[in-house]
Amino acid sequence: MALDRLVVATRNAGKLAEFKRLLRDFPFQLMNLAELNIASPAETGCNFAANALLKARHASRVSGCAAIADDSGLEVAALHGAPGIFSARYAGLKADDAANNAKLIEALRGIPQDQRRARYVCALAFVPAPDAPPHPIPVFADATWEGYILEAPRGSGGFGYDPYFWVPEAKMSAGELDPTEKNRLSHRGRAMTLMLDRLSHLGYGMTTQS
Ligand code: IMP
Repeated sequence: MALDRLVVATRNAGKLAEFKRLLRDFPFQLMNLAELNIASPAETGCNFAANALLKARHASRVSGCAAIADDSGLEVAALHGAPGIFSARYAGLKADDAANNAKLIEALRGIPQDQRRARYVCALAFVPAPDAPPHPIPVFADATWEGYILEAPRGSGGFGYDPYFWVPEAKMSAGELDPTEKNRLSHRGRAMTLMLDRLSHLGYGMTTQS
């Protein structure tokens, strides 16, 4: 039951670039929502896993292919876990990364560095093609990435909150990490390693080309 096509259920360019890099050695054809002209569903779930599942199910149902979706976000301890599942729309429904970052930095104004603990969370959901044997049973994987929120941005790599996310193990911000290193350390990269392992054990023929 090797995968031949996989839809990455996102319209976020930053996430998509990371997915492409994470999956580039696999022989299946990667497609995304923009290419397939599929709209994103409303994210009505009450946690990351529920949103990842609804995104993957939607993409699989509309495309007729296997799909993988990520729901992710930033949880800041001093803000009681905000912005959490609302990370993409923290500063409003049409907010961009700059507006979200500005709101975050304002919310943390005056809070000392040692109390600016935060973590990224990533939940991945994989849904097989609707006609795939034996049943379209979803597969989940998740991971977190611990760090701190800086007062000023560093670096211009990554996306979203990355220039403000200090990575203690790398002694730099996520915006300063090169893409391969970010994928090695990040919530998304480690959730994907777990997911690929699970898919392989389930018989999805996850052999790489390299
Ligand atoms: P989603 O598309 O609803 O899952 O929202 C994800 C949002 O969480 C993004 O728009 C970013 O604001 C934030 N986020 C998740 N992962 C990352 C990351 O790796 N770097 C920076 N921001 C991230």
